[in-house]
Amino acid sequence: MRIRAGAKTDIGRARKRNEDSFLVREPLFAVADGMGGHRGGNVASSLALEVLGQVGEEASGPGDRLVEGIRQANDRVLERGEADRDLRGMGTTITAVRTSDRTAHLAHVGDSRAYLFRQGALDQLTEDHTWVHRMVREGKLTLEEAGKHPQRSILTRALGVEGDVEVDQFSLDLQPGDRLLLCTDGLTNMLDDEAIGHILADEPDPQAAADRLVEEANRAGGDDNITAVILGFEDEEDEKRPEGEDVVAPAVIPSPGTLSPVASDGQTPFPRRDGAAASAKRKLPWRRVALWLALVVSIGVVALVATRIYVDRQWYVGVSSGQVAVYRGIPSRILGFGLSHVQEVAADLPASQAEQLQPWSTLSEGITANSLEAARQIVNQIRQDLGLPAAGSGS
Ligand code: MG
Repeated sequence: MRIRAGAKTDIGRARKRNEDSFLVREPLFAVADGMGGHRGGNVASSLALEVLGQVGEEASGPGDRLVEGIRQANDRVLERGEADRDLRGMGTTITAVRTSDRTAHLAHVGDSRAYLFRQGALDQLTEDHTWVHRMVREGKLTLEEAGKHPQRSILTRALGVEGDVEVDQFSLDLQPGDRLLLCTDGLTNMLDDEAIGHILADEPDPQAAADRLVEEANRAGGDDNITAVILGFEDEEDEKRPEGEDVVAPAVIPSPGTLSPVASDGQTPFPRRDGAAASAKRKLPWRRVALWLALVVSIGVVALVATRIYVDRQWYVGVSSGQVAVYRGIPSRILGFGLSHVQEVAADLPASQAEQLQPWSTLSEGITANSLEAARQIVNQIRQDLGLPAAGSGS
């Protein structure tokens, strides 16, 4: 099954940091919502996803590999929290999907969520590991009360808190047209399932839908960091889209201000460019690769020609072998290549004499002119200033 992914994370309107992270690295997708003072939340969520993304092939099946990844992430977050006083007590939620053919394997800890949107209906796949959810299950709170409860974000399970973590695990048979939404509680506390379902129905494009969800959650208050990852599943044959239209999704995106440069304006940040992300294997159809190559080469050629035309129209007066000289081009170098050549040398004008006069003291750096004529006028001006007879041009 072909997957199209869209993802967006945003700081929201009330928090000082974005402690959410997401991972989009086919066949692995995940969101994590970090917690803990100082920079703990940022570190916990991004570290957990980094570890998850690195789990190798040794575990038996895709589902087991996912759970193994989450256990390793738990160990690493816990170790890191114990080692660094600033990070003590940090933790994170994690909701992850690994796809294989027509199956989605899910694993989950905490109160981030996975939803299935199928034929217009939205179903929550994960169970919140929160105290209020437990109260609802035990009949001590209604769903409404739980949704507004001041303690609704108290988790009963999280990564990085204890050495052993219980991971919910299940799988799902996929159908063409299915969409999966992974999101943090910054989305679900602001928008109810009905509102989320409407947006998904309105926006078939995964990236447009992720953008809209975040936008609407901010409009509803944006009390917390908001993250949404959307996966759209299509049959391989359904290649109705023109080549090159779908954008290759970014790889690991840790939360802003932690491990990699991230735009602070809430735009989708830059993908990590570390070894882990770079080693991710992506299958690109050769036609798309060829198209991109052709585009890059064309842009390069146009840039070269434009630079050449520009440089050829520039003039300056400088120094050549100790004499004042007129150059065609610009007085700088790009990648070690000079961008000018000598047009005329004023054999009667030693540069050292000219440079002793204040107006021409920077002669060796080049004095730019708009035309050859203007450059020659500068040379004549230097002659006059040195009390020498004017000349039509250099020799
Ligand atoms: Mg949150």
